[in-house]
Amino acid sequence: MTATPAWPPQSAPRLHVETQLGDGVSVPVDGNPAHYLISVMRVKPDDIVLLFDGRSGEWAARARDIRKRDLILECIRQTRPPESVPDFWLCCAPIKKGRIDLIAEKACELGVAKLQPVLTRRAVVDKLNLDRLHAHLVEAAEQCGRTSLPDLAAMVKLDALLRDWPQDRHLFFADETGGAPLAAAFASHPGPAAFLIGPEGGFDPAEREAIRAHPRAVAVSLGPRILRAETAAIAATAAWMTLNGDWH
Ligand code: SAM
Repeated sequence: MTATPAWPPQSAPRLHVETQLGDGVSVPVDGNPAHYLISVMRVKPDDIVLLFDGRSGEWAARARDIRKRDLILECIRQTRPPESVPDFWLCCAPIKKGRIDLIAEKACELGVAKLQPVLTRRAVVDKLNLDRLHAHLVEAAEQCGRTSLPDLAAMVKLDALLRDWPQDRHLFFADETGGAPLAAAFASHPGPAAFLIGPEGGFDPAEREAIRAHPRAVAVSLGPRILRAETAAIAATAAWMTLNGDWH
């Protein structure tokens, strides 16, 4: 007996689109995504492409009207409902280009709901290219199967972050000078959370004092070694996802 082929095909390309998806919706695709589908993935008429728009789950769409530089994808069936994303924000100081790109990619894969850049005094970078970070989030979501993108917030200064901090959200603060062990801190602070990670040069003493004085802040240690900022961001997120998130 021959096995029934998987549907949608496991090899179907996955694409994030801005168009709101739904039954019978036609999505025109051009530019780089069209080049990827037509020239790289060699999509043919009637081939299936998986689409997500960040709000409507994942949809199987059929390719049609394929031309040299554009095509139409027509939604035929929802393949997954919108996902439920753990209520976890990653707040990190801007760091050098390739390293902040890595944080964006891994934050998306690990299940972060929001990426919040925070400007601190010792940051060696004071500007971020949000379009480039957004592109990394999209690429990571396409690859890892997310049906939503993490929110990407504009950079704020540390004092503004602390001033406007929501009352119902714990702010775990990765303090390289020491803090509570992670597992114990997470167990005693369930619910909406965020992790704050410093830049290459760490937090200065006044910043550390201001964070520690915040009523929602919980200073934690990531162990006896000093981690690079991107390692700290990835490790802290993975630990929270394991203990308080959705890695059941
Ligand atoms: N220049 C700083 C120093 O030597 O103390 C190190 C800063 S570290 C490269 C960047 C950020 O990662 C820190 O601000 C902190 O948020 C986090 N981090 C790194 N290692 C950590 C640890 N063992 N415990 C808690 N946080 C850590």
